[in-house]
Amino acid sequence: MKQLFLLIFTILFVNACGVPLSLRKDRVSKKDESRQYATTDSAFATYVATFEQQGAQKTGNPDFKVGDIPINFGDTENPHFQGVCFEYSDGTKEIIVQKAWWDSVDQNYRESLLFHELGHCRLGREHDNTLVATNDGDKKLSMMSAVIVNSNEYNANRDAYLTELFTQNVNSLLSAFSL
Ligand SMILES: [Zn+2]
Repeated sequence: MKQLFLLIFTILFVNACGVPLSLRKDRVSKKDESRQYATTDSAFATYVATFEQQGAQKTGNPDFKVGDIPINFGDTENPHFQGVCFEYSDGTKEIIVQKAWWDSVDQNYRESLLFHELGHCRLGREHDNTLVATNDGDKKLSMMSAVIVNSNEYNANRDAYLTELFTQNVNSLLSAFSL
């Protein structure tokens, strides 16, 4: 019973992108609304290209593309979310990113956030909050962790995190963590 309570507590309080203690998710279904944008802001072009290149490599599908998922700066509708994947009832999707956050972080952190949101919108993935204990403290076993992988963690194990993102195979990450 105590374990069940702890599990429920964990789900309730770590279920947000970016910061703990928020109860909502950054993969949001919207009814009776149309998406705000039709095309992607050029600020995200190189990240989209990298996601497609990595996706092709990791999945073995040379035609892997992001497709019709515009990415733009705007209101994520929750100040705790640096990014959000909106899914509309007409089947369209879009990603919205907080510009103030984007402008305040380095390229690794930006990629970690954007690829997490593409994990929701393009790959259809939900959050995976698995942690593993290592000699260097607890480590996230997925970029789909509700609290996104930070710049240093991502930079140190980028290739292994990308392998898990596209294939859900954690072996590369476990090796990287010497487990
Ligand atoms: Zn998320």
